[in-house]
Amino acid sequence: MVVEHPGPLEQNPLALVELPIPEPAPGEILVRVEVCAVCRTDLHVAEGDLPPHKSPVAPGHEAVGTVVRLGPNTGRRLQEGDRVGVAWLHASCRTCPYCMRREENLCLAPRFTGYDVNGGYAEYLVAPEDFVYPLPSETDAVAIAPLLCAGIIGYRALRRSGIRRGERLGLYGFGASAHIVIQIARYWGCEVYVATRGDQHRALASGMGAVWVGDATATPPEKLQAAIIFAPAGELVPRALAVLDRGGTLALAGVYMTPTPPLDYQTTLFYERNLCSVTANTRQDGVELLRLAREIPLRTHTEEFSLEQANVALSKLKHDQINGAAVLRVSG
Ligand SMILES: [Zn+2]
Ligand SMILES: [Zn+2]
Repeated sequence: MVVEHPGPLEQNPLALVELPIPEPAPGEILVRVEVCAVCRTDLHVAEGDLPPHKSPVAPGHEAVGTVVRLGPNTGRRLQEGDRVGVAWLHASCRTCPYCMRREENLCLAPRFTGYDVNGGYAEYLVAPEDFVYPLPSETDAVAIAPLLCAGIIGYRALRRSGIRRGERLGLYGFGASAHIVIQIARYWGCEVYVATRGDQHRALASGMGAVWVGDATATPPEKLQAAIIFAPAGELVPRALAVLDRGGTLALAGVYMTPTPPLDYQTTLFYERNLCSVTANTRQDGVELLRLAREIPLRTHTEEFSLEQANVALSKLKHDQINGAAVLRVSG
């Protein structure tokens, strides 16, 4: 399923096409995709909120599949038949100052799965051997797919928020990422406050142990030591800062956000409140999240669609009708 002309989901921007099976270049492996979870970034690619990097492009960067062919100069980490997860960071340049200090999420020339190269909305994809995550052979593909972006980015956002054990955490928006983050935060003994649109999302948050749940514009009743905004809504920023405790941090987890209103210094930033963004992730973030996922263990709520239903899945995501994460079944 490829996007050729980004546009409103109502116009079904994704089209089913037949493409040749890609050839793995040196350092790459060929993966037969089993499932691919649907991320809000895919929606931004399909609708053109993010400028196209490749056209047409098969979106999707939460793919679980099997290695079916090793390209030249591979085989150090993987063999044919291994299960792998393919995430957003397709490759980093490895030579820029950020890569050199292990901040590959800030790479000057990164390439992203399902944006710069074809991703998991396809039966086959190629990826560098060094940038995929080996998964246990018994992996439940549908359950683990949402961890590959929603989980990893959520985990990075949680770390960027500076939350410590036992503190109060606010989550604005309760989609795929937040429903994973709440499990980690509760595992760390934190109290979680959730403000989100939609009765379904509020019910899921309550069911997953949030101590307070309100609608998207509601204000948590306690000062929070840390908060994360997942909703791509810039107008939430001043409100979320205003309920942060002294020294607290607000992390913005989206790859895209509408403009933020002006910030009144005294009520939003003074008392050393911090505001930070979250940009992609390092492979180390992925390794740590997948380890945590086994330890806790993390569970995901998923709704399954066929690959051909990608427009439907994205449309439901756009209209807040997915509880947890949507996952496309690509092949058996
Ligand atoms: Zn780099
Ligand atoms: Zn994503």
